[in-house]
Amino acid sequence: MPAQLIDGKAIAQQVRAEVRADVEAWVAAGHEPPGLATVLVGDDPGSALYVGSKQRASAEVGIRGFDHRLGADVSHDEVAALLQQLNADPAVSGILLQLPTPPQVDGPALTETIDPDKDVDGLTPISVGRLVKGRPGLRPCTPQGILELLRRHDVVLEGAEAVVVGRSDLVGKPVSALLLAANATVTVCHSRTRDLGEVCRRADVLVAAVGVPGLIAGDWVKEGAVVIDVGSPAPDVEFESARERARLITPVPGGVGPMTVAMLLRNTLAAAQAAA
Ligand code: NAP
Repeated sequence: MPAQLIDGKAIAQQVRAEVRADVEAWVAAGHEPPGLATVLVGDDPGSALYVGSKQRASAEVGIRGFDHRLGADVSHDEVAALLQQLNADPAVSGILLQLPTPPQVDGPALTETIDPDKDVDGLTPISVGRLVKGRPGLRPCTPQGILELLRRHDVVLEGAEAVVVGRSDLVGKPVSALLLAANATVTVCHSRTRDLGEVCRRADVLVAAVGVPGLIAGDWVKEGAVVIDVGSPAPDVEFESARERARLITPVPGGVGPMTVAMLLRNTLAAAQAAA
């Protein structure tokens, strides 16, 4: 029987509705609404769309938006000053600096100046350290979205063999850390892994975060496995043949993709609650 699809679009909608209800309850209890500050430098249309969609999603759940747009010729120090101001502003619960930035602005270095308690992307070194050490903190959105998909489908992670293909800071490493924290036995693969197919065949839970369309052959999927395909916009997994062997599988699009913004909203509320 072909695998059941994991409907990320529907689950993301559920998460967004839950965040909306939780924000309402938070405000009804007398708190200020959570606030999400986005900082966009320059006029890249793709980045502008991305920032706009995050701000719209925030507004829909009652999160206050602080949408900062700076010209392409702004200096590094001006962006640094804005981030310091946002760090100090109690109305701002979460801060996102949209990358890439123009060449005179060192975006990655500036990202590291964001207060870790407002780091709703969960990607700064302090947030990564907190994740790896199992301390409370903000977790990266896409990896957290993957864990949410697994949780909503009651996938047992304790003792499970989890194989993650990809070791990026954005997805592969943090999702591996989250799976480990959930007591899975985690193997992380990358471009130098020998016999990738053999390693994948061991997986009860297989996470593909590579960006090479169709790299994961359908017959690398163990019978009854759960397959999470992070590939975007094209799937990393050969979908049709993998579906014949898996128990659960994410489609691309409509699987992991919609979860990222949903988890960003949840992180922003969590940051506001932790700061109160
Ligand atoms: P990335 O930074 O390019 O990392 C890709 C990883 O895949 C690297 O660790 C690389 O290994 C590994 N890799 C490349 N070719 C390989 C091969 N032939 N065999 C085994 N491993 C190989 O990519 P990323 O940022 O993690 O993104 C991965 C995919 O997820 C992309 O399609 C991206 O668009 C998508 N994505 C989706 C979302 C979302 O849906 N919300 C969010 C983020 C990313 P090395 O480390 O050895 O180079």
